[in-house]
Order: sequence, then structure tokens, then C-alpha cells
Amino acid sequence: MASAPERVRVPILLPVALDQTYDYLLSPDMEMPPAGAFVMVPFGQQSRIGIVWSHSVGQGKLVDPKKMKAIDAILDVPPLPPLSLQFAEWIARYTLAPLGMVARMMMSASAAFEPTKPRFGVTLVPGAPSPQRMTPERAKALEIAADGSIRAKTALAVEAQCSAAVINGLIAAGHLAEVAIPEKRFARPDPHHHENTFGEHQGGAVHLLRAAIDADVFSGTLLDGVTGSGKTEVYFEAVAQALAAGHQVLIMLPEIALTSQFLGRFAKRFGCEPAQWHSALAPPERGRIWKGCATGDVRVVVGARSALFLPFIDLGLIIVDEEHDAGFKQDDRVHYQGRDMAVVRANLGKFPVVLASATPSIETHVNARSGRYRHIVLPGRFSGVEMPDVTAIDMRTAQPQKGQWLSPPLVQAVTETLGRGQQSLLYLNRRGYAPLTLCRKCGERFQCPQCTAWLVEHRFKHRLNCHHCGFSLPLPDKCPKCQEPGSLVACGPGVERVAEEVAARFPDAKVALLSSDLIPNLTEMRAVISRIEAGEVNIIIGTQIVAKGHNFPDLATVGIVDGDLGLAGGADPRAGERTFQLLHQVTGRAGRMSIRGRGLVQTHMPEHPVMAAILSGNREAFLEQEIRTRQLGMLPPYGRLAALIISARDKGLAERAAREIVRLAPVCERIEVLGPAEAPIAVLRGRNRWRILVKAPRDFDLQGYLRLWMDGIPPIKGDLNLSIDIDPYNFL
Ligand code: ADP
Ligand code: ZN
Ligand code: ZN
Repeated sequence: MASAPERVRVPILLPVALDQTYDYLLSPDMEMPPAGAFVMVPFGQQSRIGIVWSHSVGQGKLVDPKKMKAIDAILDVPPLPPLSLQFAEWIARYTLAPLGMVARMMMSASAAFEPTKPRFGVTLVPGAPSPQRMTPERAKALEIAADGSIRAKTALAVEAQCSAAVINGLIAAGHLAEVAIPEKRFARPDPHHHENTFGEHQGGAVHLLRAAIDADVFSGTLLDGVTGSGKTEVYFEAVAQALAAGHQVLIMLPEIALTSQFLGRFAKRFGCEPAQWHSALAPPERGRIWKGCATGDVRVVVGARSALFLPFIDLGLIIVDEEHDAGFKQDDRVHYQGRDMAVVRANLGKFPVVLASATPSIETHVNARSGRYRHIVLPGRFSGVEMPDVTAIDMRTAQPQKGQWLSPPLVQAVTETLGRGQQSLLYLNRRGYAPLTLCRKCGERFQCPQCTAWLVEHRFKHRLNCHHCGFSLPLPDKCPKCQEPGSLVACGPGVERVAEEVAARFPDAKVALLSSDLIPNLTEMRAVISRIEAGEVNIIIGTQIVAKGHNFPDLATVGIVDGDLGLAGGADPRAGERTFQLLHQVTGRAGRMSIRGRGLVQTHMPEHPVMAAILSGNREAFLEQEIRTRQLGMLPPYGRLAALIISARDKGLAERAAREIVRLAPVCERIEVLGPAEAPIAVLRGRNRWRILVKAPRDFDLQGYLRLWMDGIPPIKGDLNLSIDIDPYNFL
């Protein structure tokens, strides 16, 4: 036998926590797969799906070709587009996450990688003579099938009200034939389906956005305007322009699962709904959308942050709606900020990105001010209705009665609103009945056994729950410590407790309580929201899920039960910004259609700068102050932050490791290493946590520094865990 020709080595990336590719051999009978192709390869004891990478990554020791394994098969799946590979590398470099974990996010649609089993249906055989034995059932089935479409056998039987045997008989007799049901195509949004007319300001904004699409280069735009100013209608025109130019479009929303109205509005503008991408999707649908993005069959995706990792073949525009929302930050495995990565993706793809918000983040504001982003402002609401009039209720003087949470002025406002037949919303960002339970006799407080956190009473479910780890126990009827029966008291309010107070005060009002733990699923949530929209509810009580994207036309009064929640601050540099945004968004729900709304904020510190800015409606003053604070403190976007979180079950182990890691930090005068300090939630799910905060000037290569540092620390092994969070949003 002649000597075998040299076999080709192919670098393969596996979706595991490794930062390198492995070389595999190409079988002589295989054609070289393109970069991005999916292959089956032996890995350890298993066979796994890997991605053909465009080049070798990591130091990849030279493996003896004799030991090298071969690719088992090339999968019949569209390859990841070249830009997806570049994007994955960019994210891995920036977040310090292993490339394999980023690739894994790009494969989060397992059904796309399974062979598709064609489904079969029946259809009329054209030109077949009528059956010799005709029965009423047969006649009915043939009559229905006469339209020539393909139906599942069972569907035809149901429609014709006959048994499957009748259908089988018609197949056997050659009147019906079994054929594969073609895969359902995605509806194509039509950019010209329903064109809006725009006035002066909106028209100017539309013009600028269309020009950005036509320019066909990277650009960032901040679309800035109060709730109801028409941002959605305006950016739909950018979507239309990109579609007309033949590109795919991604619209990112923080709470996609809840925004049923959005889909309806999209359909009104474009004639059909977009593809939706979120965590509640059924696996086959995930697979179908994933493939549709790779083949180009899907034109528009509306999705949560993870939609960024879909294999778009020709993405030409990303819209990030509610760009300030912290929900775009992912805090496990690969820590990334979806809004920022959307900008990166647009930059790599050389197309525009539009960030829309009524309360843009400080980061985005600064980018707009410096000219890095174009800044488009939509002044005022489309309806002409003014923004709600917001006033503070000083809780130091307007105290509610003991055990109650609604102050007399707020109760009066709700009463008046009810009297006019309009809606009120009471907002409290606390699930459950009470945030703390204690024993009146011995003072015992109920704490989670696994976390540094109080257990929260959920009265409807009759349980005490930990909101951090999910630990839960039935509400005891006596104190477990001193055994005193009936001694437990609830401290402080949660939404359930506010609902109880409302029920007692307004017994005739129809109340809807919106809290994620009380509503079993999406369908139910959408049903409640439709009831509110239809005006079937008088008082809405809700947590932050009411703050996002809904449009309640009859809403006239918004009461913020605890305006101080979140202002306390601590280490979080965005605490003020977040409170400002939240209060603005919630109060902005009032009076969207035709009624001027009002907002009432219960607070113990009406003089606090954030509160003062909300009350005066003076956003610019708030921004000025917040930007100055960030500048002085070298906080984002003027400085860069990274958090290192060290955790272990053993308290001593976590602390020793954290101290050792800090001791090994490379000396650099431009870098500040703060800590280690015990995390505010010092124990989470039974793990002891220590935090280190690294601060660097904006122009400093923070990732390079961290890499150097991490290369010099002892291996993290056993029960110890170290996670690196670049641009942290969570300081707990
Ligand atoms: P935002 O996204 O800024 O909150 P929307 O786009 O939701 O604002 O607009 C608020 C309301 O005004 C919506 O009901 C929307 O349909 C309507 N609207 C805004 N602009 C127009 C327009 N040019 N023509 C018709 N309706 C509009
Ligand atoms: Zn007790
Ligand atoms: Zn817990």
C-alpha cells in the first residue's frame, strides 16, 4: 500500500469552559468544512458537537498526529457566520470568559443540531377517479382534501369527523397520498405594510435614522424621549429601512416575555409578528428560529439579551430599547452587558445601532455628549398630554397609622381617582407580604440558613422564602426557638401586605396584584395585563414588572409606596441612577393617553438630590450632578471597574484565598485594588463570599492587567471558586 497522504488538521472549539481549540483530523473522504461548521468529534469518553474554528486558539501543545482523533461527522446545520466567530472572540477577550463558554451561548438551541424528522401529512392525489366504494365519511374527507393542502392525518380525520381507518383506506385506495409536510417558513415583515405619518420632530428623527441605515457604516444613536414620545414608532422606520435594504434586524427588549403589546404594534406596522427569542420558548421553536437566522429566513428578531448570539447571516441593524435597563447585564457564567455588546456587534458588522430610552444610562449620555453617539431627542408626548405632575409625600409628617403603609394623602388621591372611574397604580418593589418576620417574645429573626438574608413571608402561599436561593419553609404557627404560639410578627411591607390594606380600605375596588411569584405563567400574565388595559381593574399593585413597557390607557394616579428603596446606595455607583430611572418610568405610566396623570412618591428624604430631581422633573440637573460624581470618583464611564468574587463553603478557605489573591496583584500605580472585603451578602447558597474591586482609568488595558494577575495566582481548585465580572452592575 502507498503511504497515506498527510491528513488535514482542523482546529475545533468545544462548548466547554476552555479557552482553546483542539486539532482534529479530517477523514480522507470528508470535504474540508468551512469555518463555523458544526462537527461531531470524540472528546474524552463522549462524542460532542464542536465548531470548526478559523484558526488555532490557545497554546495548543503540538499533539502527536498518531494520537490525534478524527472528526466523526460534519453536521447538516448551517455554519456560524464569520462575524459570529469574531464576535465570540471579542466577547471572550473582553469578559475574560473562556471562548468555549461564549461559543456555548451561540449554540443554545439544541434542537437546531438534531436531525429534523420530517412530519408527514396527507393530500389529495390529483386526477384520481372517485372511489368505487363511496361512503359519506369518505366523501366528506375527500371534499375537505379537495383544496389541495397538506394536513396531518389526525387533523383531516377530526375535520371530516371520521376515524383514522377511513383516511388509511383512502390512502390504500390511492386517493390520498402521504407526503412530507414542508417546514413552516417565517412570515416576512413588510416594510411598507402600514406607513405612519410623522410630524416635525418625529419626522426629523425618522430622517436621521433612515440616513444612518443608508450610510451603511457603523454608527451609534441615542433615541431619547419621554415615555409616549413615539420612540417605538420612530425606530420602526429604521427597521423598515434596514428591511428594505435586505438586512436582518434585531430588536432587544429587557422583558421580552411580557411585552405582548409590542408584538401587536409590530404586526400593525409590518403586517406580521417578528420572531421572538426568550427563555420561555419551547425547544423546537428555539431550533427553528436559530436556523432561520442562519439561513436568512428570519428577518426580524425581538429578543432578550441572549438574542445577540443568534447566527444572523446578514444583520444590518440593532435596536436596544430601554437601553438603561439593568436586565441587559448577565451575571452568571459569561458576565456581559448586552447593550454594550450590541454596540460591539454593530461595530464588527459595520451597521448602525440605536439605543432608545426615556431615561438613558449615564454611560450612554456621556457617549452622546462626547459626540461618539448621535443624540436624537423627541420632546414631549405624541398625544400632547403632559408628563404627570409628581409630588413628594413627606412620610415624616404624613405618617400612616401603625401597621399601615399608605399615607393619608395617597389614600385620598386613590379615593378621588376611583371616584372618577380611573385607575391607580401602587408600586412597591418588594415581593411577598413582609420582608422580615420576628418573634415578639424572644426576638428571634428568621434568616435563611444558606444566605445572609431574611426570609420573606409569602402569606398567600403560607411560606417563608429566601429571595436569593429559593430556600422555603411553611410559615410556623409557633416560634421555633421559644415555642411561644402565635408570637410571630411581620415587619415592613411587601406587595401582598399593601394589597391587604387596599382590600380593607377600598372593598369595592377591583384589584390586580402583579408580582412575578404570584402569576404562574406568561399566558396568565398577559391575561392580567389585558384586563388592566381594558379598564377592568381599578387599582393595580405591583413590583417592578409593572414598570416595563406597558401602556395602561386609564391610569391616572401612580403612588410609589417606598420611594427610598434603592437610594440607600452602599457600594453601588449606579444606585442613584437606577432609582431615578425606576421612579421616572413608573410615574411615567400615568396619563399616557388623554388624561394628565399624577405621581405621588412616599419618601423620608424629599431633599435627597435624586428625589429632588424627580420632583422638579429636572433631568438635566440630575444628570449634571450624577456625571460630576462619576467623574470625581473615576467611576464608569470615566473609569473602568472589575469585580472578583471568591467563594467557598469553608469560611476560612474563602478568606485566605481572597487575601492571597490581593497580595499577588501586580503592582501598578494606575490601578486601585480595593478589598478583599466580605460581600454584603456574605453567604449565598451556603457559600462564603469575598469581593475584590479593581478600578482603572478608562484608557487602561484592564483585561491585560487582570490576565497577568490571574496567570500568577495559584490554581483555583477544589471547592474554591473565582469569578471575574468586568463592568459589574451587582455589588452584593
Ligand atoms: P415611546 O416608545 O416613546 O414610549 P410610543 O412609540 O409607544 O412611545 O408612542 C406612544 C403612543 O403614541 C403609541 O400609542 C403610539 O402608537 C402613538 N404614536 C406615536 N407616534 C405616532 C405617529 N407618528 N402616528 C401615530 N401614532 C403615533
Ligand atoms: Zn420566640
Ligand atoms: Zn437563601
